[in-house]
Amino acid sequence: MSKIILTGDRPTGRLHIGHYVGSLRRRVQIQNEGDYDKMFVFIADAQALTDNADNPDKVRENVIEVALDYLSVGLDPTKTCIFVQSQIPELCELSFYYMNMVTVSRLQRNPTVKTEIQMRGFGGESIPVGFFTYPISQAADITAFEATIVPVGEDQKPMLEQTCEIVRRFNHIYGDTLVEPRILLPDNTACLRLPGTDGKAKMSKSLGNCIYLSDDAATLKKKVMSMYTDPAHIHVEDPGHLEGNAVFTYLDAFCRPEHFAEYWPEYESLDALKEHYTRGGLGDMKVKKFLLKILDAELTPIRERRKQFEQDIPAVYEMLQRGSEEARTAAMRTLNKVRQAMRIDYFNDTALIQAQAKKYRQG
Ligand code: ATP
Ligand code: MG
Repeated sequence: MSKIILTGDRPTGRLHIGHYVGSLRRRVQIQNEGDYDKMFVFIADAQALTDNADNPDKVRENVIEVALDYLSVGLDPTKTCIFVQSQIPELCELSFYYMNMVTVSRLQRNPTVKTEIQMRGFGGESIPVGFFTYPISQAADITAFEATIVPVGEDQKPMLEQTCEIVRRFNHIYGDTLVEPRILLPDNTACLRLPGTDGKAKMSKSLGNCIYLSDDAATLKKKVMSMYTDPAHIHVEDPGHLEGNAVFTYLDAFCRPEHFAEYWPEYESLDALKEHYTRGGLGDMKVKKFLLKILDAELTPIRERRKQFEQDIPAVYEMLQRGSEEARTAAMRTLNKVRQAMRIDYFNDTALIQAQAKKYRQG
């Protein structure tokens, strides 16, 4: 079976370090290792509209921001097909058929959608239908490209489960047609769902608690220095707690052994640093300064590459257009298979036409 990788991001803002550790870093790694048949990465503008109906300009303007973030982390359009979701109308048709494979109660049970509904303040029945059903459209995104591996953060787990159910149901009814995908979660638990700088459960564009990949050095410093740590760690000598301490979670996500030799040779490992912190006698500021150095080293090249791509914006749109054309061809292939399996390709079905003709001749 071929190995097809697919993921997307909503253009509701620039991408942040949560996206980076949760999914982007992995995509670039897979791309550069080259052990796959095809990789698709897409900007989910149509999905972003499902909860931004009043703010289409935000979505429209962020398409280019996400594209720039992709290029700046090292996604390479000569290797990876980068496209824009709304430019692939085949996805809508697939979603329409998949809607028959899912019940309202199944959608209501989706824990990620439940949290998101709460977060967005859609009370009672006032959820836009498009938003409520976006897991179905995600199933269309994934299956249209016959993706086998989807590298995403933990919040996407229910979406992948939903997709697999749709695939199984469809194949059960219509015969083996769609490919079942597998989720690829980050192997480091800190990266499954990176918390916000405010210590909240998830760094999210919608919560305003993000460190963006494109933040300049001064902004990065300000954000790191004012990060949430351990509210019980008041005096340096107090024992510190690691649980819920965003600074240490970020260290778990970004710190590599060589960082100690380079920036803080007093400690030989993250475990040693944690041990001192929990024992007491290590101030938050020192830890934050260390984290800042690590993040700055990781983000500076990304920031610099972004500056270069920003010099030729029309070229970035052209890249997206070419990617979208290529993606459309792939989606059309799957849609044709689906139509055939569903036997709604009436005009190509000579057996059907003849059988119907015969029925009426006899009648
Ligand atoms: P929005 O608030 O508009 O939903 P978002 O910040 O949640 O935006 P998405 O575009 O929904 O971002 O997510 C894109 C990808 O990044 C998904 O694979 C998701 O799992 C991953 N991701 C997003 N936020 C985090 C995070 N804090 N930690 C790990 N992965 C994340
Ligand atoms: Mg999200």
